[in-house]
Amino acid sequence: MHTYHTPLDLVRDCSPERPVALARPDAVATAARWFQVNFRGDVFYAVKANPSPWVIETLAANGVASFDVASIPEIELVAAHAPGARMAFMHPVKSRHAISKAYRDHGVTAFAFDTHEELAKILEATDGARDLTLIVRLAVNAAGAAYSLSGKFGVETHEASALLLAARRATEGRLGVSFHVGSQCMRPTAFQAAMAQASRAIVRAGVMVDIVDVGGGFPSVYPGMVPPDMADYVDSIERGFSEMMVHEDTELWCEPGRALVAEASSILTKVELKKGDALYLNDGSYGSLFDAAHAKWPFPVKLFRSDKDGACEVEGPLKPFRFYGPTCDSLDHMPGPFWLPDDVREGDYVEIGMLGAYGVAMNTRFNGFGDAETVIVEDAPMASMFGLAGRNIRLPRDEQQEERKVVRLSRPKGRAGKSRRRR
Ligand SMILES: *Cc1c(COP(=O)(O)O)cnc(C)c1O
Repeated sequence: MHTYHTPLDLVRDCSPERPVALARPDAVATAARWFQVNFRGDVFYAVKANPSPWVIETLAANGVASFDVASIPEIELVAAHAPGARMAFMHPVKSRHAISKAYRDHGVTAFAFDTHEELAKILEATDGARDLTLIVRLAVNAAGAAYSLSGKFGVETHEASALLLAARRATEGRLGVSFHVGSQCMRPTAFQAAMAQASRAIVRAGVMVDIVDVGGGFPSVYPGMVPPDMADYVDSIERGFSEMMVHEDTELWCEPGRALVAEASSILTKVELKKGDALYLNDGSYGSLFDAAHAKWPFPVKLFRSDKDGACEVEGPLKPFRFYGPTCDSLDHMPGPFWLPDDVREGDYVEIGMLGAYGVAMNTRFNGFGDAETVIVEDAPMASMFGLAGRNIRLPRDEQQEERKVVRLSRPKGRAGKSRRRR
């Protein structure tokens, strides 16, 4: 991959015709190290958030030796780019073929499930292997998350005891519980609450667990969604863990996806047309902008221009714009608002930030688009949970007020403003 010092250098050097994914491996490295230092347990990267080889390699080079995978292609990807890494197959519904191949060809022994039927599949597809780590996925309350991940998966509380007991009886290996509080979780205490729920389930079942896996959900920073400090999340998990009925050697695992990669990519798009407050770009909802279209997230943006006078970043009074992507589908619309200089025009470049998680990963080839080259850039991400950039993204004044409101609402009671104990 080619390296440019900044996105502006890329614009200056080659005025790209097609969208370019900007990779910031340093941001992945920083997030990985933060989790190593601050999370007292094993960190499994949830590969689906961004399966780019450079992400897997950077994580592995920075101490993340475990991966949460959901398919054989993800397993092969990790095996190719992080040889020797440990993997846990955390998708609660798998084909028998995938279970068997993961176990036999790739040495995967940890499997999640949320039904008796899937447990039976795992036991049968591994020929009753006795060295399995069986992880029961619990449904938990997802209040406070931008995306719930409990609707589709997780055994309900009243059925959890029977499943935990069945799993305990099925293996001489290890037993674990996992859950997912929902993606982009804005409330640190959601983890402690979910752990209390998990603890009640294991007490009711009368089993001891060897692993407590708190899943993903660790947030990143987006306009209008500035979460509390990441340290508040690990504090909540530590409190939750200390209150759980577990034995002394019970391991703590987490599966962050978004938090490890969100800051580490942005996309450089070109303005093909300006029609009033609508900008028609060469990337959209079938490319890297799924969340901008379907969850209506107003990602942060920067404007670059290259003309006969050279290339520059354009600043100036900001105005709200909305985006259309390049396909002919009218769903290919990102309402924003995206705040850009008033005089943005055809041929300008818009860098859309914070797309490292569920952005670049979502690219399709629909309508002949979606072919984005990746280059490395060395500037800071537009916002950071890990001190790489200000936590506040450039926003016009009334947006900033709204943002502060979100922060205040989402702070756990009585903790706002206190200095952090650990960093
Ligand atoms: C998607 C997913 C994750 C990662 O979630 P984030 O919100 O990106 O941290 C972790 N575990 C499982 C089982 C998932 O499906």
